[in-house]
Amino acid sequence: MPIRGILYEATAAPAPATTSLAGNHDADFVVIGAGYTGLTAAIHAASWGVKTIVLEAQGPGFGGSGRNHGHCVPILGFINAKSAVERLGQERGQRFTGMLVNSGKTVFSLIEKYGIDCEAAPTGALQLAHSPATVDQQKRQYEAYAKLGIEGVWLDRDKAVAMTGSEAFHGGWMHPDGGHLNPLAYARGLARAAIGEGAEIYTGSPAISLTREGDAWRVTCPSGTVRARRVGIATNAYTDRLLPPLGQSYFIMTSYALASEPLDPAIRRKILPGNQSLGDTRPDVRYLRFDKDNRMIVGGLVETIRGRNVGWTEGHMRKRFAAAFPELAGVKWGWYWSGKLAINMDRQPHLYNPAEGLYALVGYSGRGVPTATALGEVLGEAGTGVPAADLPMEIAEVRRLLPAPLLSAMVPRFRGPINRIRSIRG
Ligand SMILES: Cc1cc2nc3c(=O)[nH]c(=O)nc-3n(C[C@H](O)[C@H](O)[C@H](O)COP(=O)(O)OP(=O)(O)OC[C@H]3O[C@@H](n4cnc5c(N)ncnc54)[C@H](O)[C@@H]3O)c2cc1C
Repeated sequence: MPIRGILYEATAAPAPATTSLAGNHDADFVVIGAGYTGLTAAIHAASWGVKTIVLEAQGPGFGGSGRNHGHCVPILGFINAKSAVERLGQERGQRFTGMLVNSGKTVFSLIEKYGIDCEAAPTGALQLAHSPATVDQQKRQYEAYAKLGIEGVWLDRDKAVAMTGSEAFHGGWMHPDGGHLNPLAYARGLARAAIGEGAEIYTGSPAISLTREGDAWRVTCPSGTVRARRVGIATNAYTDRLLPPLGQSYFIMTSYALASEPLDPAIRRKILPGNQSLGDTRPDVRYLRFDKDNRMIVGGLVETIRGRNVGWTEGHMRKRFAAAFPELAGVKWGWYWSGKLAINMDRQPHLYNPAEGLYALVGYSGRGVPTATALGEVLGEAGTGVPAADLPMEIAEVRRLLPAPLLSAMVPRFRGPINRIRSIRG
């Protein structure tokens, strides 16, 4: 069978019925983009009784939210409780840190609250050392999270081997609030939840322009407009030309995914028997999870050949995972797809407020399942009319990242080979 496209289109529950925007509408808050950021913002604002309209160019989850690898790993290099308090003050700083620290719980509790059917597996996120030299690095991360109140599970080598079924790991820890899910099903479920809270969602409705009209904004789509006092832009790596220079404020990396045909249950039982999300310490990180039908889902950043030449990538990834799990030597790939990631230079999400009532939240560097879900609430709060100075996030200045085109072109060429050399050194 030839390799197919996005797996989740075959496995996710259908999206709620929606239409495209026609005619002129009024709202309090208009959200542009129906991924995790825009949809959690809409859920939040609508649940506060704010009249909310979501405009989506394609369908819910068309962007990163419906294409990602499905790992929910609430371990974020940029959590720094002290600096958050210094920048935002005690109350806002603590709230910002708390939102990030608890972002895994937020994902799975939203799924539970709204009964979202998305293969949710709150089974934990394994972060494992790929060499003896990187065990200490994992220990430091485990201890840092313990100080933030996360009771992780420390794994010595024997436990890491038992939990993965592979001798390739030397120890590490498990974040208890992580896990995995079907990303497109999650996005579609969030869309259903937003509608349930009273938001209106229009699909096939790209926002083409934003114009100031008195004390409000008019957002124009091909066949209709929405006038609202507040606008939340949640278009992330898919921003393109809306509100320049937003789409040039980050650089773009493309990430690919490969999913196997369902594994033989006897083989599946030997690999990750606890069904966690698995990632390792390699700079060229290896991650792996299974879906409900025992398909293995893996991926990485697209480079010069890897991720671009699908046949070559299939062989490369088969070899790579069979080195850790010899049972996978004959794995058959059935699905390949890719999507774009928006990366800010400081690797942190940015909230912008370039004009009164106009907000944008972008740049999750590949951990958007927990972070976009958690921080979408901040955008939603802005949509309820909370002043920017009271939001639990710093307002950044939207600046064109001059080397963005160069970084987007060059990083994929050099990052892979450099990281592979760093990974060999341990
Ligand atoms: C291949 C891949 C693998 C990844 N793996 C993981 C992972 O395992 N774990 C993890 O935590 N994160 C992962 N990520 C990152 C994560 O998917 C993103 O950070 C997250 O989905 C961003 O959500 P978002 O709502 O901000 O943006 P998106 O989901 O990208 O949504 C933006 C939406 O805006 C719409 N849009 C754009 N322009 C307009 C317009 N003018 N008008 C109307 N709508 C518009 C788009 O159609 C799109 O639906 C991965 C990303 C990719 C691409």
